[in-house]
Amino acid sequence: MIESTWERYRDHLRDIAKLVAAEALLEWDARTKMPARNGEYRGEQAGLLAGIIHQRRTAPEVGEWLDELRDAEIEDDALRAMVGELDRRFRKDSRVPGALVAETTRVTSVGQHAWVEARRNDDFAAFQPHLENIIRLKREYAEAVGYEQNIYDALLDDYEPRQSTAVVAEALAGLRAALVPLVSAITECDRTPDRSILTRHYPEAGQRELGRAAAAAIGFDFDRGRLDETHHPFCTTIGPHDVRLTTRYDEQFLPSSLFGTLHEAGHGIYEQGLPAEWFGLPLGSYASLGVHESQSRLWENLVGRSRAFWEHFYSLAQNTFPQALGDVSLDAFHFAINDVKPSLIRVEADEVTYNLHIIIRFELEQALLCGDLAVADAPGAWRDKYESYLGITPPNDAVGVLQDVHWSAGLIGYFPTYSLGNLYSAQLFAAAERSLGNLADMFRAGEFTPLREWLQEQIYRHGQRYPAAQLVEQACGEPLSHHALIAYLRNRFSALGFDLPPE
Ligand code: ZN
Repeated sequence: MIESTWERYRDHLRDIAKLVAAEALLEWDARTKMPARNGEYRGEQAGLLAGIIHQRRTAPEVGEWLDELRDAEIEDDALRAMVGELDRRFRKDSRVPGALVAETTRVTSVGQHAWVEARRNDDFAAFQPHLENIIRLKREYAEAVGYEQNIYDALLDDYEPRQSTAVVAEALAGLRAALVPLVSAITECDRTPDRSILTRHYPEAGQRELGRAAAAAIGFDFDRGRLDETHHPFCTTIGPHDVRLTTRYDEQFLPSSLFGTLHEAGHGIYEQGLPAEWFGLPLGSYASLGVHESQSRLWENLVGRSRAFWEHFYSLAQNTFPQALGDVSLDAFHFAINDVKPSLIRVEADEVTYNLHIIIRFELEQALLCGDLAVADAPGAWRDKYESYLGITPPNDAVGVLQDVHWSAGLIGYFPTYSLGNLYSAQLFAAAERSLGNLADMFRAGEFTPLREWLQEQIYRHGQRYPAAQLVEQACGEPLSHHALIAYLRNRFSALGFDLPPE
């Protein structure tokens, strides 16, 4: 009885996954290959498909199946975890009134257009009423779905299931306290790399070859994936054996495609490592956005910007770009790819300052949500925080409070997942090293498989079997903390010759 209920529900979810994969393929195509003139028709197609998917997800029988399964004694642990997660999501979604969903869709759609205009004209006042509406609707959403302690918990849970705001706030406060003096020590030191090394001429064909070689070496499986070109790089999953990476080539700036490809390949390796037999079900899906980002950042930064990685790859890079890199030493190259400089724009920030950009947004959106900060005062609060954490002041709101699309799209609670990814990446890397021995020696020899297999065993194969925080804690033997990330950054930058203050 319960078995047949589960089988019907499972097949229903697998059918939804097929539709979602079709939706992803349409979206991938629109962002990589499609002639621009087809945009309107593609939009109609995607909208029709989204409607069909929504209908299936909210079909009345889903609630009936879950009612039966919720009360059943399920012996299999994995199955019980999966049903529990499906039930939790379903109940959360069903607490949101239809009118609120429709109103949020409308307000964020208008809000995004208003944001584009406001940013173009550096006119926060024009965006302010839209943001006020969005914050109000997000509060209503949080009240409708409910939360235990902090209103922000309800929003964070959409991206980082079952994580608590208090836990994240504590980790990020510790990170901020350690980062601010680290950033000022690095910037006050008069050691700067030769930045012009990376802006020489790097022909596109060579970038394509090097990026592909690096992605394959760290374990992205090109028999089950692709790498293509786009304007705003992303990684998407089209099926259990089809993961697509995208990148952008700038012949005058090597890092955007090189580290962008490693970043997306990290996301792709995680997707390829999820159990294919559970595709479209919680056991075959990523644990959280933070865990996803931990994989992209781990391969991009902890591996890809390490000296050992380049001891292995630098001769290939020099052979690929003899004009640009022929006269550049490995040391000079490695220093240049680890350049640190406080800047205004989050997406262009280096690895050390990046988390301060996130912490600012996390602090502001919590204050906006709970009413401690009025929307009208957000631009000033933004400037004050940039000044005190990063030592720079945005000259206008376009490069200040208006720079990101997230708030206009209603994505509140999303930003901290980027920093969780960075914290998790360093904790996982340190735990892998405790278990496998010196990883740098392996990288020097071009061996990345042991690290990937450790991650496969600890993270990828579990899908959503455990809540993200528990999954990472099990793998690392310690709860969320900023210590591993700070230790890693201090190591890297003292090895680069910086004089750092004692911790
Ligand atoms: Zn990412």
